[in-house]
Amino acid sequence: MKIFNTLTRQVEEFVPHEEGVVRMYTCGPTVYNYAHIGNLRTYIFEDVLEKGLRYLGYDVRRAMNITDVGHMTSDADSGEDKMEKGAKREGKTVRELADFYTKAFFDDCEKLNIRKPSIVEPASHHIDVYIKMISKMLEDGYAYLSNGNVYFDISKAKDYYQLSGKNPEDLMVGVRDTVEEDSAKRNPADFGLWFTVSKFSNQEMKWDSPWGVGYPGWHIECSGISGKFLGEYLDIHCGGVDNIFPHHTNEIAQSEAYFGHKWCNYWVHGEHLNDTSGKMSKSKGEFLTLSVLMNRGFQPLSYRYFCLGSHYRKGLAFSFEALTQAEQAYQKLRNRIKKLDRTPNLREGKIDEYKNAFKDAISNDLNTSSMLTLVYDVLKDEELTDFTKLYLIEDFDKVLSLDLVIEDEEVDSTFEQHILEQIEARNQAKKEKNYEEADRIRDSLLQEGIRLIDSRDGTTYERI
Ligand code: AMP
Ligand code: ZN
Repeated sequence: MKIFNTLTRQVEEFVPHEEGVVRMYTCGPTVYNYAHIGNLRTYIFEDVLEKGLRYLGYDVRRAMNITDVGHMTSDADSGEDKMEKGAKREGKTVRELADFYTKAFFDDCEKLNIRKPSIVEPASHHIDVYIKMISKMLEDGYAYLSNGNVYFDISKAKDYYQLSGKNPEDLMVGVRDTVEEDSAKRNPADFGLWFTVSKFSNQEMKWDSPWGVGYPGWHIECSGISGKFLGEYLDIHCGGVDNIFPHHTNEIAQSEAYFGHKWCNYWVHGEHLNDTSGKMSKSKGEFLTLSVLMNRGFQPLSYRYFCLGSHYRKGLAFSFEALTQAEQAYQKLRNRIKKLDRTPNLREGKIDEYKNAFKDAISNDLNTSSMLTLVYDVLKDEELTDFTKLYLIEDFDKVLSLDLVIEDEEVDSTFEQHILEQIEARNQAKKEKNYEEADRIRDSLLQEGIRLIDSRDGTTYERI
């Protein structure tokens, strides 16, 4: 397996600490709102990476946190806690807010065939672990107490800027705005490990600690949860590129200070999904969720197909036109697979060749578009029997998770549901005199092999 490592900025051969075992950590969502489809792009990429490693034969042990405390509205660890802000907005307690959006997140994941990591832990469940780590860092001189808060002293970290490749001087400009507020810090880029009530008195979730009643900083949760559940040597740590600085940079500083040695060898980051106004982000207020896509008649797995069409290290521009094209291609692909003859007739001949090609696509820095191309190659290959094609596509789908091979009735019922929703959306568009949208829906269904028939009694359809 070759994978791009942000730490060294090159594609490297992947060698885990323990042969055959991968310890993988992925940052989870901050549950103060729905996940947007940008977040979901990152979780799809991580899901494919996990499944790809499994396909290659690794035993993957994967952990993920749920951020339900400590993530500030500003990455400089100042401002309000995002959870507190969300709770106020919705008239809920922080706990209710976290439970609601954690469930919503996993519902979205299920619709997108994203496997739930075997270890999922809310940040607020492991306060004892953070206290233990912070105490040791204080003892060893990596952390200091100032104005009631505990900070990490970044000047003590070995190569603090390695992951981000940032220039400390440039960063000084970035943090200058907050210098006044953070006068308690020795260096402007130092970050909070533990905040006490002296600074944020109205924090709802708080715990007793040797430094007073308070709550942990955002970054310590990932170091704590990863160390507790995966041990002190991590193989792969993932997230979106926005996590590189400061979050992952700070995770490295803390974990290595605490363990006293190098912690994680491979840092793998997914590029962003962008909309027309730039990076999709929750704090911008309006953002696209999976439900919005579904309400517009798209099937969740069309979005997964859309994401898999491009490489995880390339920015992906979202538009409804692009998603429509992906949905049509995806639907056509499923229809082609559906037509394959299921009579058992396996020919071993080229099976290994295809499986090896699929492994190569995974090993080539997780080349998802090559993986998809292989599905089309299998379909085109006249030397393969239909049954062998089905066998291979089902095998590839362990990684792609696009429900490519499904039972006949299942295809019919989800596809039928989709057609009815599209007819409904078209009726609505017509009512609103949005004939352009109505025509778009009609043409889009035609591409999927469905012709609409309008009559005075309403709209029916036929398959072409
Ligand atoms: P958050 O819930 O804000 O902590 O983010 C959850 C995950 O989504 C993190 O791994 C982020 O790096 C990632 N992320 C945030 N914005 C985007 C985006 N526009 N495109 C792709 N991933 C993103
Ligand atoms: Zn994290």
